[in-house]
Amino acid sequence: MPHLSTVDKLAILADAAKYDASCASSGAQKRNSSGSRGIGSTEGMGICHSYAPDGRCISLLKVLLTNYCQYDCLYCVNRVSSNVQRARFGAGELAKLTLDFYKRNYIEGLFLSSGIIKSPDYTMEQMVQVARILREDYAFAGYIHLKTIPDAAPELLEEAGRYADRLSINVELPSRTSLGRLAPEKDASRIRKAMASVRLKLDEKKEPSRHPNPRAIKATGQSTQMIIGADASDDRKVLTTSASLYAGYKLRRVYYSAFSPTPHPSSELPPEAPPLRREHRLYQADWLLRFYGFDLDEIIAGGSDGMLDLDIDPKLAWALKHPEQFPIDINRASREALLRVPGLGTRGVGAIIKARRLGALRLEDIARLTTSVAKIRPFIVARGWRPTKALESAGLRAQLTRPPVQQELFV
Ligand code: SF4
Repeated sequence: MPHLSTVDKLAILADAAKYDASCASSGAQKRNSSGSRGIGSTEGMGICHSYAPDGRCISLLKVLLTNYCQYDCLYCVNRVSSNVQRARFGAGELAKLTLDFYKRNYIEGLFLSSGIIKSPDYTMEQMVQVARILREDYAFAGYIHLKTIPDAAPELLEEAGRYADRLSINVELPSRTSLGRLAPEKDASRIRKAMASVRLKLDEKKEPSRHPNPRAIKATGQSTQMIIGADASDDRKVLTTSASLYAGYKLRRVYYSAFSPTPHPSSELPPEAPPLRREHRLYQADWLLRFYGFDLDEIIAGGSDGMLDLDIDPKLAWALKHPEQFPIDINRASREALLRVPGLGTRGVGAIIKARRLGALRLEDIARLTTSVAKIRPFIVARGWRPTKALESAGLRAQLTRPPVQQELFV
């Protein structure tokens, strides 16, 4: 193996980690070292790499411990049969690098994943070692997200949870059959078993106890990632899998990552990446499922043949197919009904409900309380406003899906 400097390794291993989408840092326990001997905080602001659902940004060093891997997942650039340059950090080396980056204010935390070397247990031990050094030797109080290895021993997953704010286990593909075909060494049942064991530990932690266990898991949640477009699963299948993961393991997030063709691809894989917009529409649909009271059939019915409409967001797609539900009276409608208005998010709905207690709202008030009244206007009634265009009109869809136009720089 040629000698590589830490900077060389970083270039290789940060690049190799870029395909991993599941690094948003929502739900991190608020931890701050002020007043203690520690260093770091999960509360600060810095360079933004990840967005939490509450809008908070956390910059992370997102890196692999190594891109050597003995597995041969066909969709992965780091698979054993891939001809890429390899590198590996020592646990102490990576912990020190993380701390150095933190001290220079480049990052607020670490997102660590790894190829599998020697055995799943050995690899997991090495990853836990990085987190342990950071927490115990350096008293690092910043954010740590560990991508865990499902085949590793449950005790190692538990230990990982003692040091990390977030654990994730990749479900990889929407269907078990596809996983067996494209990632022969992985097993859907073992992945779910690992998720269940992490869930159990997270639940145990919540139970009140007179004698808190100092070795209890500290992580506040788990998430997963699904690769989209590497197999033939349609959006209905993808979202059905997500819904079962949210329900079964109370995941914080399912991340959707569009398949990206690797050099020398297998003939089992599609030659091209799916449109990135598909990933975006799936995220929107995922939010409708979790926070907007939509069910899967309603969302999927907005598109066709089990796929979401790529041109418009899934809420708008549903609304245009259900003109009988509109317009909605903004001054009287329930929260549930308001959440179904295209262009209205949870914050906008909250602001409207609060403001209308003081008096009936006009369109100008809605404009002040929301980000785009133009999108909302055709679907609502407000004081002095009632839409004239029928929702079925073809012109309305065109108007609402008009492509964005680049603004003049000097006006
Ligand atoms: S185990 Fe992970 S790193 Fe290894 S080939 Fe599969 S996806 Fe890639």
